[in-house]
Amino acid sequence: MSTTKYLRRRATASQRLEPFPCGHRDPWICSCSDTKPAPDADVVAAAARHLVSAIGMPGTGYDIGAVRSLWRRGGGDAHLAELINRCGGINV
Ligand SMILES: [Zn+2]
Repeated sequence: MSTTKYLRRRATASQRLEPFPCGHRDPWICSCSDTKPAPDADVVAAAARHLVSAIGMPGTGYDIGAVRSLWRRGGGDAHLAELINRCGGINV
C-alpha cells in the first residue's frame, strides 16, 4: 500500500473515532498532549506484539509511561519494553 493511500485510509478511519476535547480525532496527528489519554500497558503490549509478528519490529511512538509500566510487569513484557526501547520506539 502506498503512503498516500495509507494516510487517506487512516484519515477516513479517524472520522469514526470520538473526538478528543481539542477537536482532533486521530491521536497520531494531535500534538495537544494534555488532551490525549495515556495508553495503558495492555494497549502498548498488544500493539507492539502485533507489529513484531507482522514486520519484525515493535514500531515507534510509544508513551514512555506506558512502556515503563510494561517493563515493571517483568518477564516477557519487560523484554518487549526493552525491545521497544532498543528500536527507538519511545516517543520523547
Ligand atoms: Zn489535539
